[in-house]
Amino acid sequence: MAIDNIWVFAETNATGGASSATLELLTKANSLGGSVTAFVAGTAGDAAAAFADHGAAKIYETGDLAGALPGAAVSAAMKAVIDGGDSPDLIMFPQNYEGRDVMSRLSVKLDRTVLTNSTDISVDGDSVSVKTPIFGGVKIVTSTFTGEGPFLAAFRPKSFEPAGGAGGAGEVASAPVPDLGSTGGATVTEVHVEETSGPKLDEAAVVVSGGRGLGEADKFDMIEELAKKLKGAPGASRAIVDAGWVPYSYQVGQTGKVVKPTVYIAAGISGATQHMVGMKGSKNIIAINKDKEAPIFGVADLGIVGDVHKVLPQLLEALNARS
Ligand SMILES: Cc1cc2nc3c(=O)[nH]c(=O)nc-3n(C[C@H](O)[C@H](O)[C@H](O)COP(=O)(O)OP(=O)(O)OC[C@H]3O[C@@H](n4cnc5c(N)ncnc54)[C@H](O)[C@@H]3O)c2cc1C
Repeated sequence: MAIDNIWVFAETNATGGASSATLELLTKANSLGGSVTAFVAGTAGDAAAAFADHGAAKIYETGDLAGALPGAAVSAAMKAVIDGGDSPDLIMFPQNYEGRDVMSRLSVKLDRTVLTNSTDISVDGDSVSVKTPIFGGVKIVTSTFTGEGPFLAAFRPKSFEPAGGAGGAGEVASAPVPDLGSTGGATVTEVHVEETSGPKLDEAAVVVSGGRGLGEADKFDMIEELAKKLKGAPGASRAIVDAGWVPYSYQVGQTGKVVKPTVYIAAGISGATQHMVGMKGSKNIIAINKDKEAPIFGVADLGIVGDVHKVLPQLLEALNARS
């Protein structure tokens, strides 16, 4: 068996474009050899061209899910295509809520194991291995699938660089959702999309994060202001999310978002391992901390030993003077 047929669970974003996680996975799938298929929950619409440009030779669309839970509907649609004879050797999912939901349900339907939370994949003949960071990223485990495919694997966002220009044909085919039986009784009644101005945290080129060193919730305004000035997104350590200063969607780290911006500014953040796994891939890291022994300085390209209450206002003042 060779790895000839690779599927990627594909998603569109709030504006109907291709989600960045999908483009990352398509690019990686395309580099593994074989034919790449994007399997879309709903319709690809405007995103179809980007899917093709990132390597999708074929695009399966489920069509309107009619309020069904995406996990239940898409896994059933995938199973129906597989039963119909188009059986992939490998299916790659984003390690996000929908990706995990579809993958776990499909795992039960196909009686195949899953490997999750991975950051890399390699194919050698018919052998597929994934790499998964453990213990907050201090150790990397390599796991190899055994037995028959389809192999099911989920990858953290930002594990791969998306690259267009792959010239996939993007031939669209229908993969309707079969009768879901009693599972179809559960429906989505409301979707809440958090309002944000500025770029999304995991897509921003500049991220400014605040931690407990800010002292109190109101001081997070300085982080918001600096992020806005730099056309970036505000982020946070778990300490201040747990304290209720900012919503969970701001959290960077092992149990939050993984970010890889061009510039990451950490203000009043100690640099616990669980925080650093979420940001240490940033291209340039600037840390502001009053403790010169703080672990964050170990990964910083530029370290400012100082009080955030003095450094941040001065930084804002200097930026304001420029504009
Ligand atoms: C299973 C698990 C998962 C976790 N997941 C995450 C995660 O996803 N993300 C995450 O962030 N954490 C996570 N944590 C928590 C993590 O271990 C740390 O507790 C947390 O990151 C600490 O946040 P902090 O750096 O803001 O606070 P602290 O560790 O309290 O650090 C505050 C820092 O501010 C500095 N400081 C204080 N006053 C000032 C000042 N005036 N000016 C400048 N500097 C100042 C201090 O010197 C200190 O270094 C997790 C923990 C566990 C157990």
